[in-house]
Amino acid sequence: MSTIDRPALKEIVWHQMRQDLQSLIPWFANKELLLCPACCRPLTFDDFSLEHIIPKQALACDPPDVRAAIPQNERSGMTLLCRKPLVIKGRRIPGSGCNSWKGKHYDPFLRELIRSVNPIIAKFNSRHQLALFSAGYLGLFRQFGYQIALLPAGLLMRHQFFHPNRFLREVPLDCQMILAGEALSAYDSDSRKYWSEPFKITVDGYSALLILRNMAFRLPLSRDPLVPIARALPYAPSKYVFRPDLRTVFEL
Ligand SMILES: [Zn+2]
Repeated sequence: MSTIDRPALKEIVWHQMRQDLQSLIPWFANKELLLCPACCRPLTFDDFSLEHIIPKQALACDPPDVRAAIPQNERSGMTLLCRKPLVIKGRRIPGSGCNSWKGKHYDPFLRELIRSVNPIIAKFNSRHQLALFSAGYLGLFRQFGYQIALLPAGLLMRHQFFHPNRFLREVPLDCQMILAGEALSAYDSDSRKYWSEPFKITVDGYSALLILRNMAFRLPLSRDPLVPIARALPYAPSKYVFRPDLRTVFEL
């Protein structure tokens, strides 16, 4: 396919997300809207922009052979976040929506985490933990879609996204820590997986285990996202039923 025929990445991601959302909430089928994965406002195509979950500046220091072997988008993971200014409790937040919010509150800390070779001697604090928590939420959303965002655990993680300074009381304690080993510093064919897809996710009961390079951490789940959802049947056993919570975090 020539470059001229290739749809822009933003359009591809928009259609993937629209398909997922419609399959869960048919009401969206005739609306040219999408819910922002963080603030959950229904918005139009122009209100969104592409987001590198692991910021580009964090990846700029990857070893040259990594940068040559694996495209940046593959190392960062892409999603859409809104760029429409946020209004929280009547106060307009400067910047462009959730995209700017993540850029301001989380990206500098993600950069420090990714660039740190030895996390044992690095000085990390709760801002780093919360940056990883929020990036991990977007990684989980990217893999499993709106069923993550619209259930109670997703609402909690979206709520946390807007509290960058401290963990909320409701966040399980085992989701408030990071296990880390020494980072790799060179590329070979055996380590391709380490550098490519940023989040390796394993579902483990009511939490998901995420591995980002040399770091591992957990995020809460309301249901196993690998269990199919009854999308057409009016009645089904409760574990197959999806009851979306469409509140934005500002309504809490
Ligand atoms: Zn948003």
